[in-house]
Amino acid sequence: MEAHQPRTGLVVGAHSADFIWRAGGAVALYAKRGWQVTVVCLTYGEKGESQKLWKDPTMTLERVKQLRRAEAERAGAILGVHNMVFFDLGDYPMRTTVESLERLADLYQTLRPEWVLTHSQEDPYNFDHPEATRFAQEARVVAQAHGRRGAAAAIGAPPVFLFEPHQPEQCNWKPQLILDITEVWETKRRAFESMDAQEHLWEYYTRVALQRGQQGARNSDRAMKYGEAYQRVFPLVTEELR
Ligand SMILES: [Zn+2]
Repeated sequence: MEAHQPRTGLVVGAHSADFIWRAGGAVALYAKRGWQVTVVCLTYGEKGESQKLWKDPTMTLERVKQLRRAEAERAGAILGVHNMVFFDLGDYPMRTTVESLERLADLYQTLRPEWVLTHSQEDPYNFDHPEATRFAQEARVVAQAHGRRGAAAAIGAPPVFLFEPHQPEQCNWKPQLILDITEVWETKRRAFESMDAQEHLWEYYTRVALQRGQQGARNSDRAMKYGEAYQRVFPLVTEELR
């Protein structure tokens, strides 16, 4: 019975499209391997990351949310996301609550993810992103508490990987793991090309993937073309020096 238990991963993004640009390769790669990847979107990015939609003077906040949700679901389906969860906390500014923290901790305990992907710890251009990573990491620690729902419900210590921010140097973010996403690159590209509201980012994120691909090849003996980089929060625990 246990052998058929699907393996799971969790992505927590501040805005509905963040996971596509920054972690779409990891999601597609693991979905292809048969994992169930859940994506939590804390907001729709309705105020801060929907510039194109707001050019329409008749646009409303509710409609932007609907359009952004549909767009994220479409891209998520292309990537092979198993489950999308929308918290609708409101963006710019995004503020989390104890109730939303408990909700995410419940999700950790239900899914028992083997890894967690979220934002960089700093981002002077965007305060929702560090808040999302703080929230994702606090919920993980809450879900580890044996006194919460008993020892059996408590989760272990899934590694946390921070995806690449838009301006890494300003965010004190460094690539510590480069994931080879060459075999799913076309899928990631298709997913972000379905994001009409942020067409200006298509070429940018293609360049990022090529850059990380080069760097990945340079730091290994792999012939890789496209990469997706992450910073670790916790040390890698291993029996090998690698
Ligand atoms: Zn964002």
